[in-house]
Amino acid sequence: MKNLFPVDRLRELPTPYYYYDMELLGQTLSEINKQIREYGNYHVHYAVKANANPHILSYINKCGLGADCVSGGEIEAALKSGFPADKIVFAGVGKADWEINLGLEKDIFCFNIESAEELSVINDLAGEKNKTARIAIRVNPDIDAHTHHYITTGLNENKFGIDLSLLDKMIELSERLPNVRLEGLHFHIGSQILNAEPYIELCKRINDIQQSLLRKRIKLNFINVGGGLGINYDNPERQPIPDFTRYFGIFNKYLELQEQQSLHFELGRSIVGQCGTLFSKVLYVKEGVNKSFVILDAGMTDLIRPALYQAYHKIENLTSSLKGRIYDVVGPICESSDCFGKDIELPETKRGDLIAIRSAGAYGEIMASRYNCRSIPKSYFSDDLSE
Ligand SMILES: *Cc1c(COP(=O)(O)O)cnc(C)c1O
Repeated sequence: MKNLFPVDRLRELPTPYYYYDMELLGQTLSEINKQIREYGNYHVHYAVKANANPHILSYINKCGLGADCVSGGEIEAALKSGFPADKIVFAGVGKADWEINLGLEKDIFCFNIESAEELSVINDLAGEKNKTARIAIRVNPDIDAHTHHYITTGLNENKFGIDLSLLDKMIELSERLPNVRLEGLHFHIGSQILNAEPYIELCKRINDIQQSLLRKRIKLNFINVGGGLGINYDNPERQPIPDFTRYFGIFNKYLELQEQQSLHFELGRSIVGQCGTLFSKVLYVKEGVNKSFVILDAGMTDLIRPALYQAYHKIENLTSSLKGRIYDVVGPICESSDCFGKDIELPETKRGDLIAIRSAGAYGEIMASRYNCRSIPKSYFSDDLSE
């Protein structure tokens, strides 16, 4: 699959940099749109935190998706890239006053509420503006997403969301407050979820909650099930586009929506993960006693996922077709965790070779840092390689 990349052009560009396959992003978004058209009342908000590159954001906006934001900065980025305010949802455990005010001024679709205190602050700030804020309560459904503990969010006593046992109190509070209107419930159980079971469990949990709310005559306009659909990091060629048919099919089959209710999704990784690649050149090949190290000019400052949560990214040498050897592939940063892969087989590698670190479109560029006074990596796009 190497020749899918315009290698001759890419090797001329100064490394390290991110390269985005906009055709793949387009196909991924078409697939999502095709699926949700089937159901009619499904809406997808792109989780901006996965990748807020302006070119990516405007492209996703043009394809009709909404935005899921977790900060005022993300709301600003989404608006700047053309997302209409009435398709923006705003989550996060620690919304600052200015961020809430921004959401109120712009009349965003919904605030996802994570605590009682936040709810009353939003009520006060909305009151000052003579507005009514649309809100959803983020419920912690206590479901194990069977993913890395840093990225599971739906378990009990997590900092995210409201415990199920406190939901009734929260609803009562929202009914007492004049400047908020409860419109929905919000859930998000974690990230990089590849099994159906956690989502099936989530649907059943939501059905139970809806039944008990119905008995109290509480009606909601929408359910928001968050995001978390995983991608195939091991084999990006085999599955460049996640199985959205199966994903949306699970909710269609197991979730009992009430009449007039719409269903909202907040997908991040599954939309942008596979279209992005981090390109780097080999600085040195260091022969140790028992190991050989490929030292790249890209490091954890460009892509922190391997260092932060032992994430695996497929690594390819695009400019060597020699016999394979085993290497540790590392970056130049002064941290031992700055390692992209241990005991990786690559064709025999030499200084100057072009290395692709695959599936890096989500939580890659956006998490880049200036540690060691390094530069933030540039980005190039398949539909505009001149930039
Ligand atoms: C991170 C996040 C998402 C997106 O998660 P992905 O795994 O990238 O799909 C959606 N909703 C909320 C509330 C989040 O925090």
